[in-house]
Amino acid sequence: MKKMVLFRVNAGNEYGSGHLERCLVLARLLRKQYDPYFLVKGDNRIGEILYKENLNFKLAMHGFREEVDDIRGLRPNLVFLDVMETPIEFVRAIKEYAPVITLDDRGSGSEAATVTVYSLPLEKPKMSNIDSNKYIVFRPEIADYEKTRYERKIRRILVTFGGSDPANLSNVFVRISKLSDPKIEWVFVRGQFNQNRWSEGNYNELKHGINLFEQIVQADLVVTSFGMTAYESAAIGTPVILCNPGQYHENLSEVAGIFGRLGVYKPAGKDGSDNTSVLAREFSARIGDADQLMQQALQAREQVDKQGAGRMIELIESVLDTGRQEACVVCGSRRERALARDLEKNVFVCEKCGLFWQHWFTQPLFVYEKPYFGEDYAAQYGKTYLEDRENIDRLGKARLEVINGIQRKLEKKYPVTEKNLLDIGCAYGFFLDLARDLGGWTVKGIETSKIASKYARENLVLDVESGGFLDIDVPKEFYQAITLWYVIEHLPKLNDVVEKLYTSLARGGILALSTPNNAGFQGRYRRSEYLSQHPADHYFDFSIRTMKVLLKRYRFKVVKVRVTGIHYERFLKGREGSFWDNAFFRRCYGFLARVFGLGDTFEIYAVKK
Ligand SMILES: [Zn+2]
Repeated sequence: MKKMVLFRVNAGNEYGSGHLERCLVLARLLRKQYDPYFLVKGDNRIGEILYKENLNFKLAMHGFREEVDDIRGLRPNLVFLDVMETPIEFVRAIKEYAPVITLDDRGSGSEAATVTVYSLPLEKPKMSNIDSNKYIVFRPEIADYEKTRYERKIRRILVTFGGSDPANLSNVFVRISKLSDPKIEWVFVRGQFNQNRWSEGNYNELKHGINLFEQIVQADLVVTSFGMTAYESAAIGTPVILCNPGQYHENLSEVAGIFGRLGVYKPAGKDGSDNTSVLAREFSARIGDADQLMQQALQAREQVDKQGAGRMIELIESVLDTGRQEACVVCGSRRERALARDLEKNVFVCEKCGLFWQHWFTQPLFVYEKPYFGEDYAAQYGKTYLEDRENIDRLGKARLEVINGIQRKLEKKYPVTEKNLLDIGCAYGFFLDLARDLGGWTVKGIETSKIASKYARENLVLDVESGGFLDIDVPKEFYQAITLWYVIEHLPKLNDVVEKLYTSLARGGILALSTPNNAGFQGRYRRSEYLSQHPADHYFDFSIRTMKVLLKRYRFKVVKVRVTGIHYERFLKGREGSFWDNAFFRRCYGFLARVFGLGDTFEIYAVKK
């Protein structure tokens, strides 16, 4: 059965036809391999268009809840939202059934969407996976056209200000046309809803319904305000000069950065004069330099390169492959919000339990071999993992003391003849070596890196198996301690992992782990820095609270939490030499960071009852 791509789109008088048009372009490209389906809001003509295209559709006429019900009933594999403003609750509700791509969405829905694309600029940019005019979806006639002939002189100017032209900019250009070289041929397009009066003059007036594409092809210059016509002209290769009805469009034109700009039309003020004469002088200077206009047009054409539809299809296929996104794996809530987005992945936060998780909509690929413990480790800590043994052992001894302390207390209730410890992600085996020699444990390790596990076997004579925890058979109810030092954040199947940890531990067994703290000083007060340095192979980031929620769900009893990674220098950054820069405050900070859990890492120790 073909996978369904559901397009939710608005069209008609209120919304224009651009959204429907670009979704149709995508649907035609998808229909061979997939099943495109339209859920549309607008007038009756849309139904006719879709019927003629032989596309499946349904009219969305109800409220938000009914729409979600419709979408659930259709069982799509992906929902593509081209509706300008979606509320976050709507996107969260449909993510229950399918991943969601939003296109040029100004609403809060983009904060929860699986992937957000902005092909057109926003005045205030929103967080997005893609913000590029290389994702503009052009109609094939435009995408396929190559303009080759450029006049050295501007002879034919096309003026088009959209469907209604409320500021009557067309008439401003009728007046400008009267001041220009009489050899220039002026063509004005009257939009469908344009009832404005235009002055008399020597120009052609075309009614809507003409083939605008052909007119743009034939013109030496297009005069318009910011919008799709400007981009289509750029894609065809016709020079564009923008004149905008207000500052909003002017700002967007500036952000777009590829068009000639004349400025904003200012209507007549108290003194009765508008700025037409200023615009006319500027315009005359611009069209006097045809070479400059042509250069600008060639650069704009290169910028929008017309491959947008193909890129969008690739993106849709990639999101289809990754499939539906699970709710928060710790608490099951759908109250997620994106904290960071890039071309391959997102970081979401669960607003209920505080979990951060990475969501990839491309295929991630990590191999924990030499670079991870060698160059990568060195880049972060200044020496390789092997060179850092002294420091790693210092941490290991402190952790072992905690585990031994808990174990001694538990021994009375759960007596054992042999103490078995499993270290998952044991790297070169340093902690196992300590536990064997200093704690009297019978130890075993699991490690995905072949180089590291080989080192542990051969140099430290340890029982270490190469592979992933979930792929290796582990005896049930066997271990008195299982440890994961900075490992749990790397394991994508969190619930399977915790379940297996629980079943592998004997009753009274200790689970001990360390992990970065997303609610530490860095995660809380330097969040953008924290996220920008976020390792690509951390699937989850926990806070102490989140970890407690998770462990409680699996009936673990948390017996100790150690706040670690307390870095006064991070707090001091930018305050060096100030009032705060002394030993007293350092001690105070250390104390408060422990109390309020502001360390950038933490260790947690829990017991299986
Ligand atoms: Zn949650």
